[in-house]
Amino acid sequence: MNEESPLQRVDICILGAGPGGAAAALQLSRLGLPCLVVDKAVFPRDKVCGDGLSGKVLTILNRIDPSVAQRLSIADSKADSWGVSFIAPNRIGIDIPLKPDYERQMDKPVGFVCRRVDFDDLLVQELRQRPGVTLLEGASLDEFRLESDGWLLTGKGGVGLRVKAKLVIVANGTHSSFARDVAGHEMHPDHHCGGVRAYYQGVKGCHPHHFIELHFLKGVLPGYFWIFPLPGGRANVGLGMLSSAISRRKVNLRKLLQETVAEDPVMRERFRDATLEGRIDGYGLPLGSARRALVGERYMLVGDAGHLIDPFTGEGIGNAMYAGYYAAQRAALALQSDDFSAKALAPYEADVYRVLGPELDISHRLQKMVRYPWLFNFLMRIGARNRELRELMTCMFNDVDLRHRFRDPRFYLRLLFSHG
Ligand SMILES: Cc1cc2nc3c(=O)[nH]c(=O)nc-3n(C[C@H](O)[C@H](O)[C@H](O)COP(=O)(O)OP(=O)(O)OC[C@H]3O[C@@H](n4cnc5c(N)ncnc54)[C@H](O)[C@@H]3O)c2cc1C
Repeated sequence: MNEESPLQRVDICILGAGPGGAAAALQLSRLGLPCLVVDKAVFPRDKVCGDGLSGKVLTILNRIDPSVAQRLSIADSKADSWGVSFIAPNRIGIDIPLKPDYERQMDKPVGFVCRRVDFDDLLVQELRQRPGVTLLEGASLDEFRLESDGWLLTGKGGVGLRVKAKLVIVANGTHSSFARDVAGHEMHPDHHCGGVRAYYQGVKGCHPHHFIELHFLKGVLPGYFWIFPLPGGRANVGLGMLSSAISRRKVNLRKLLQETVAEDPVMRERFRDATLEGRIDGYGLPLGSARRALVGERYMLVGDAGHLIDPFTGEGIGNAMYAGYYAAQRAALALQSDDFSAKALAPYEADVYRVLGPELDISHRLQKMVRYPWLFNFLMRIGARNRELRELMTCMFNDVDLRHRFRDPRFYLRLLFSHG
């Protein structure tokens, strides 16, 4: 691109072709509405992540287009994951299946572990084939000016690609300059997590049905260490911690990851014959523990650009895709009424927080609990012998509304006094 790039006029420009932007573009295409999707990367590209795809990903893909959900379900590049193992600081662990009785219905997986280089590429390949979707890769949009007929979007210094869009769906991730400069969203260390991720080959002791593992080890609190099993004996291994704790304790996450693998008595055995593939990479997680404004004049923020990551589990892919879906729905109505004002777009924000808000709130509480290892140990000890709690947690993966039960003090009383 050079300074003479002609101005491209479009109704809708989507910034970023990650899961949030891709979901928005796929839904717009389904509604018969054209859009321009711009990503600075050329796909396939990597993204530092745990690579865990919760049931939400499949649910929203099924809503957008079941054929895409089907292609994901049969992709060789992912492992079917049937549950989550939570391991407390005292090493008591509970396995929570994603579906009750899952061993009887293993032909219908709901959760996956899939490297982002593969998952994001699967979505982008869909975009390339969709009518109405124009995908521009390797082009960065970094400067934004609101004019009477839309946003003028350009590369740094006003050069490179030049786009005029009536509406912008901002899905360009954690370091979104639009979210920072236009929406005014700053990183807040109490609502932001640092994470590092590595790929290992040959980690022993993984669950036969690829349960993802969250280890709340004493040495990494208030963060957690994870092992997410991939196909072919590979695992995504990582560590995440609240940014305020990282700076308060001056933690070097890469070093802590390596120390955990080499020195923790359980991990040392499991990693004895494992080999690190490539580098240990780090990236930020903007958490949804504080609600942010997701709309403004002629724009909507989606996914990490809108700080929508679950503060307890670190799940952001499904949340980004839900947000992308709702942004596309709202964009369609805005086009119909030719009204792109913040007021007209406000129901998008309401939709996102109606669907994801209760879950984000409960996860924020659970995240705070990690600061009190004794409380966490205590609840895990109860959970390990309490069927009601385990079943409730399984149901929670299928029905976000059930997390409301964690708000009810009677729930904890029942747990304390029940035995089975
Ligand atoms: C260490 C770590 C572990 C995680 N583990 C998990 C997990 O296991 N499961 C889970 O669900 N979530 C996890 N997450 C969160 C998850 O990675 C994000 O929530 C998710 O990627 C958000 O998707 P998105 O589409 O909003 O943004 P992204 O996936 O970041 O996509 C943004 C896109 O925008 C493009 N872009 C950026 N700037 C520009 C620009 N100026 N112009 C054009 N394009 C631009 C980028 O190239 C990129 O393709 C993890 C995150 C981290 C850091």
